[in-house]
Amino acid sequence: HAGRNNVCFYGDILHLKSIGREHVAIQARLSDAIRHGALQTFYQPIVSASTGQVYAVEALARWKDGNGWISPELFIPMAEKVGLIQELSSVVAEQAFAQLRAWRDNGLTQKLMLNVSRTQLFTPQFVSSLIERLNTHRLRPEDVIIEITESVALTDYARQVKHLRQLMASGFQLAIDDFGTGYSSLSQLHDMPASVIKVDVSFAQRLDTDAGRRVMQAIVQLAQGLQLKVIVEGVESLEVSHFLRDLGVDFLQGFHFSEPVPAGVAELWMRLGL
Ligand code: C2E
Ligand code: CA
Ligand code: CA
Ligand code: CA
Repeated sequence: HAGRNNVCFYGDILHLKSIGREHVAIQARLSDAIRHGALQTFYQPIVSASTGQVYAVEALARWKDGNGWISPELFIPMAEKVGLIQELSSVVAEQAFAQLRAWRDNGLTQKLMLNVSRTQLFTPQFVSSLIERLNTHRLRPEDVIIEITESVALTDYARQVKHLRQLMASGFQLAIDDFGTGYSSLSQLHDMPASVIKVDVSFAQRLDTDAGRRVMQAIVQLAQGLQLKVIVEGVESLEVSHFLRDLGVDFLQGFHFSEPVPAGVAELWMRLGL
């Protein structure tokens, strides 16, 4: 969109498909960034709707490039495509676990929410190496909630469920990310071994209509009936946060509370509440 010899930054993601050459350049630079410490993990608080206390923080990858921050919406799919997701994820996990250890040492008890892609999930040694990494930092699976996006093709479904059961049996909690946007959301609830659903941002953005409010209410009732905890993502105003609290939503996440921030800022929220 901006012409040739440009790299797309935050906000320009959608134009990327049309510019193949820069794609290749970005791949080389991503690989470089992973190896040379240009990836930084940010944290976004997840807040108890009733108390305002920070219940957990979600680890979100950021790529600091000379000219600014490159969005994970751009580089995560790319990392998946070019086989760098494993490497990228271990950088994020390593930073997040080291940080969580430091927080534990400072008396903080919040959980860490970690995004796991399907590619990772299907790696044979995934669960054991995750546990090994936790052990290195004297952490337990109970400290971590694994977020899995539900947009998964049905052919992989049985295999996915098997891996997820293995994770849960090891003591991890599981959250279905982007709930409501994937394939056959509802039928997956039958045998997905999750304890939390994260309602996709798009639902919080439709609460200005009657239909939008009723859909949200129905999702919350469904989750409660299944004894799943509900996190709503994309809470951008006080009004929405009150509406969701009154609906019985357990936890809220969104710019109204905080955007994803560096660890030091997140720690402040964890201590003081939001
Ligand atoms: P996600 O897991 O759904 O993460 C939530 C995204 O929503 C984040 O985008 C966050 O900044 C954004 N968000 C938070 N609050 C609000 C709000 O109030 N309004 C709106 N409109 N958006 C909000 P971000 O950080 O750009 O991450 C994008 C996606 O990249 C994530 O979506 C996740 O799927 C992926 N991702 C990020 N880090 C990692 C990682 O370490 N591993 C993997 N596998 N995926 C990651
Ligand atoms: Ca997530
Ligand atoms: Ca999400
Ligand atoms: Ca998302």
